[in-house]
Amino acid sequence: MDLQKTAHVVLLSSPGIGHLIPIIELGKRFHIHHNFKVTILVITSQTSQAESQILKSATNPSLYTIIPIPSSNISATAVSTRIRLTMRHSIPSIKSALINLPLRPSAFIVDIFGTESLILAKELNIPKFVYVASHAWYLSLFAYSPVLDKQIEGQYVDQKEPLKIPGCKSVRPEDLVDSMMDRNNLQYKEYLITANNLCKSDAVLVNTWNELQHRELKALNGELSCSLKIPVFAVGPIVRQTKSKTDQDTESMMKWLDKQPKESVVYVSFGSGGTLSYDQMKELAFGLELSEQRFIWVLRAPRGDDADGAFFTTGCSDRFDEIQKQLPDGFLERIKNLGMLVQEWAPQVNVLKHGSIGCFISHCGWGSVLESLTNGVPIIAWPLYAEQRMNATMLVEELGVAVKTTLSPTKNVVGREEIASLVKKVILVERNGKSNHMRERVREIKVSAEKALCEGGSSYNTLSKVAKIINKQDFISLSLNVD
Ligand code: UDP
Repeated sequence: MDLQKTAHVVLLSSPGIGHLIPIIELGKRFHIHHNFKVTILVITSQTSQAESQILKSATNPSLYTIIPIPSSNISATAVSTRIRLTMRHSIPSIKSALINLPLRPSAFIVDIFGTESLILAKELNIPKFVYVASHAWYLSLFAYSPVLDKQIEGQYVDQKEPLKIPGCKSVRPEDLVDSMMDRNNLQYKEYLITANNLCKSDAVLVNTWNELQHRELKALNGELSCSLKIPVFAVGPIVRQTKSKTDQDTESMMKWLDKQPKESVVYVSFGSGGTLSYDQMKELAFGLELSEQRFIWVLRAPRGDDADGAFFTTGCSDRFDEIQKQLPDGFLERIKNLGMLVQEWAPQVNVLKHGSIGCFISHCGWGSVLESLTNGVPIIAWPLYAEQRMNATMLVEELGVAVKTTLSPTKNVVGREEIASLVKKVILVERNGKSNHMRERVREIKVSAEKALCEGGSSYNTLSKVAKIINKQDFISLSLNVD
C-alpha cells in the first residue's frame, strides 16, 4: 500500500437501505468538508432491487469509491439476526477488501452491525469508529443493555416500571427495541454481543445533534461512560439531499404535487422494509378516504406476516395489480382526484421537500424521521419494527412534532376512524393555525438542524474534531478518563 498525504477513511455498511444510505452520506461529508479520500465497503443483500438502484445511482468516483461485497445467503427468522450473522460470515471478505485497497486506510468506520470487523482496524493500527445512524436515546439504551442484562431478572416486557437509564429518559417496556422483547431468543443474544462490542471501537459517532438531544449526549459522555467507556460524537443530522435526476414516474408525481395546495398532502411510507397486512392496508385505504385529504401512498405487498417483510426485497414485487385488488371496492375510482398510489418506492427526500406536503405517516425509521424534520414536516408516527417505538415516543413526548397511532385492541389494526382523525388533526388543525404547535416546533427543529451542520455549528465542529483526530492518528484524544 502507498503512503498518502490525504486521509483515507473506509466505511462499512451492513445490508439494508436504511444502513447503506447513512453510511454513504457520512462518507460524502468526510470528502466534501474534509477532503478525505473515501471508500465504502457495502455488504449487499443482492435481493433488493432498490438497493441495487441506490448503489448504481450513488456511484460517484469524484466523491467516493464503492466496493460491493456480496453476502452469503444466511437464513434466520429475525431480520436483525440475519444481518448480524451475515456480517460475521463476511469478515474474511471484508479483510481481503481492506488489505487489497490501493491506499492505506487512515480510519475504519462501521455501522452497529459491523462491530465484529473492528478487529481488522486493530490489526492495521488505525482509529476505529462505530457510526450509530440513529439517535442518542436509542444509543444510550443500546450501550446500557449489558448492564440491564445483569440488573434485571425475567423478561423486560414484564417489568412494571420503565427501564431506567442513567441521565436519560426511562424506556417503557412496550417501547423497547424488537431485539429486547424476548430474552430467550437468539435475536437478543446476538443483540447483546453487538452492544458489548460497542466499546471495542475508539469512539461512537451518532446521527443527532447536541441542540436536539443535549441531555442524552451529556449522559453518554458522563454517567453512561462507565459502561460505554469511549467518547460519543454527535455529527448529525446527516441526511440525503434531493435527487436531481428524475425518472418518468418521479416527474409525474412532482407535477401532481405542484398542482396541490401548500401543505395539503399526506405522504404515506413505511421506509425501506415496512409492510402491512392486507387487512391493515384496507383499513388505511378507508382511513385516508375518510379523512378527505390528499395523499401519496407508497404501496407495498405484504411479505408473510412480518412488519419488516420487505427489508431484503424492497422494490422486487411485481404484484401491484394484485395488491390493488385487495383495496376496498371502488377505492381507486373514488380517490383518483385526491390521491396517488406509488408502487414500492418513492423519491422520498424530493417528496418531503415539496411545499405541498403537509404531513408524513411514517414508520419512524430514524432516516425517515430526520428527512421529515429537516424538511419541516410533522409526523403521524406508526412504528413497526426495530427501535421505531422509541423513536415515535420521543417524537411525540419529547420533541412535540408528532402524533402516534394506536392499534385497536380487538382487531389488532390501526382503525380507519383513528387514521382519519389523526390526518385531519395534523393537516387541518395545523393548517388553520389553531394548532398544538407541531408545525412550529418542527420548523424550529429544522432551523436548529441547519445551524448544527453549517460552519461553526455543533455537529460541524464535532465532525471537524473527528477529522483532525483521523488526520493526526491521535489516539490520545480518543481515550476517556473513566475508571
Ligand atoms: N426511502 C425512499 N423511498 C421509499 C422508502 C424509503 O427513498 O419509498 C428511503 C428513505 O428516504 C430513507 C430510507 O429509505 O432514507 C429508509 O431508512 P429509515 O431509517 O427511515 O428506515 P428503514 O428502511 O431502515 O426501516
